[in-house]
Amino acid sequence: MTVEKETAPDRARNYRTATNLVRGGTKRSKFNETSEAIFMNSGFVYDSAEQAAGRFKGENDGFIYSRYANPTLSMFEERMILLEDGAEAARATASGMAAVNGALMSQLKAGDHVVAPKALFGSCLYIIETILPRFGIEVTLIDGTDIDQWKHALNKKTACVFFETPSNPALEIMDIAAISDLAHKVGAKVIVDNVFATPVLQHPLTLGADIVVYSATKHIDGQGRCLGGIVLGSEEFVEDTLAPYLKHTGPALSPFNAWNLLKGLETLELRVEKQCDNAEKVATFLEGHPAVSRVIFPGSESHRQHALAKQQMARGGTLVAFEVAGGQDAAFEALNRLSLIDISNNLGDAKSLITHPTTTTHSSVDDATKQELGITEGLLRLSVGLEDADDLIDDLGYALSSQKD
Ligand SMILES: *Cc1c(COP(=O)(O)O)cnc(C)c1O
Repeated sequence: MTVEKETAPDRARNYRTATNLVRGGTKRSKFNETSEAIFMNSGFVYDSAEQAAGRFKGENDGFIYSRYANPTLSMFEERMILLEDGAEAARATASGMAAVNGALMSQLKAGDHVVAPKALFGSCLYIIETILPRFGIEVTLIDGTDIDQWKHALNKKTACVFFETPSNPALEIMDIAAISDLAHKVGAKVIVDNVFATPVLQHPLTLGADIVVYSATKHIDGQGRCLGGIVLGSEEFVEDTLAPYLKHTGPALSPFNAWNLLKGLETLELRVEKQCDNAEKVATFLEGHPAVSRVIFPGSESHRQHALAKQQMARGGTLVAFEVAGGQDAAFEALNRLSLIDISNNLGDAKSLITHPTTTTHSSVDDATKQELGITEGLLRLSVGLEDADDLIDDLGYALSSQKD
């Protein structure tokens, strides 16, 4: 809700991204602290009964209750609005999944239709495939890289389309502009889960999308400290549709976590650029390795959608997927021989993390779908961190070396 006049988006938008990441949205208290304050409080007090009454009527600016809005959260939201080109408003949530759920459930009703690719983060797929149909919402799941499938799936009842690009874990690219065009022809809203691309590398709202969601847990915190999420879009959608849903259902972000995320934003661009540098080096190394049968990296010319990735992303991203020749046994052996890169299903962290999707994040997906999504027995998803790229390459080289014999 309340945005201080001196840090209103119109003025701060005159600053460039690096400046906004450090200073955007800052709202100092009367103590003039340098760093953003953590307003670790649930409620707020009023100067008078009249002021309280006026605030509930929306006649005066100010905070009411931290489930509705909180100064530390407002600072985080404001800074994210400045970073996300095309966003007019935002609401932070307790996790990325609360953001995805809020973006969908706040606007859908029985009788609506939703289209989404099968290649989705597991919990997003669960909401769309399992929860939405329980409320009378019809769902069509497609291969999101095939524009013809979007054309066939969309109809007049389609209220929303939802997709992530690059997708998890096989790093497929969805054409944001083309899908948005088609969706808008039938009056559907386009929601993009922009976690893998990060707000530094890709701006879905400028390509035609209506709503962007993030798990701020990933690159925005990027240091393994807390969960968080955020939904960004037009003033109309956020204030009239999303905000009442979140306010009354309560997936509120902790002010402490909002503060972590504000601190994360200060270094987001630096971290993402460096992680992209490292990912490029690691992908090049893996492409030349005899024990690796396939490398999937949007920044590499060998990616089947490299041209599209280049068109909508500033760089290839911080994730590299690759297939170890020899299937699951060979993939497990490589994982167990790593000594620097950690086995973990998180991503976007300063520390490099690697996971075997078919036995972890995608273990509940049926075999036929795994095959369609390219989730093979030997596939590993590597989230490249901030370590020295040569140390990462040495670690991967040692891990893969036993398989050359
Ligand atoms: C992690 C993630 C989410 C969920 O975010 P949480 O913060 O874990 O709730 C949603 N989408 C994508 C693409 C993710 O990587």
